[in-house]
Amino acid sequence: MRILLVEDDNRVADALAGALRRNGYEVRRAANAVDALAAPAVDLVLLDLGLPDRDGIEVCRELRARGGVPVIAVTARGGEPDRVRGLRSGADDYVVKPFGTAELLARIEAVLRRSMSQRAHEARLVTVDGLQIDLGRRAVTLDGQPVPLTRKEFEVLAVLVRADGAAVPRDRIVVEVWQTTYEGMSRTLDVHVATLRGKLGRAGSVVRTVRGFGYRLATADGVAPATVPAAPPAPDTAPDAAPAPNSDCPTPASPPMAADS
Ligand code: CA
Repeated sequence: MRILLVEDDNRVADALAGALRRNGYEVRRAANAVDALAAPAVDLVLLDLGLPDRDGIEVCRELRARGGVPVIAVTARGGEPDRVRGLRSGADDYVVKPFGTAELLARIEAVLRRSMSQRAHEARLVTVDGLQIDLGRRAVTLDGQPVPLTRKEFEVLAVLVRADGAAVPRDRIVVEVWQTTYEGMSRTLDVHVATLRGKLGRAGSVVRTVRGFGYRLATADGVAPATVPAAPPAPDTAPDAAPAPNSDCPTPASPPMAADS
């Protein structure tokens, strides 16, 4: 696993890099925002928010915006507003200096585990009412015909797909798709949902409004979308064979909510 360590204090960076390498991680280092944003792809970024050239929170947003690499924000500032700002910037977790190596390693493991399970989750197809949503390939088809969506429209749909039929609050969709907590974006979300429904044609009603809350993905009778693994079946699998108990299939979608309110 490759970790990008972004830290302008060399003494801190030396100590952290040593601890990470001793625990089996491959470490790349950057001492400022410019180098951090120019670094090659890694599996996780450990990002000091107090950087000499740019606000670490902006750096965090940019890192997250390109491909969703998990980020753990590191800071000397421990006040609640800064923690909240760090988390809202898109960081997956937040540690405050000084912290113990064991704590940091545990957080890294947890974030990597979540990120890997999310990626496994992404490599799948979801079908609902003739609509097929392929998160891995970022492709949507209706009755086999491609449905051209803009990036943001697709991301709104993807947030709902990942929720497995559960209702997703509006502000969470806005944070995940637009990386902002600005309340005015709620209207933008509605506009995107309206065009998304239009493009999905007869399947547009699967994007259901949960009044006063947000949106969810479900068929007209309230059934959550069916999930099938994206990987092709093994060639020697008999069609009527029971699934292997240790198969990599994602867990079935959670049961639908009782009713939309
Ligand atoms: Ca610093």
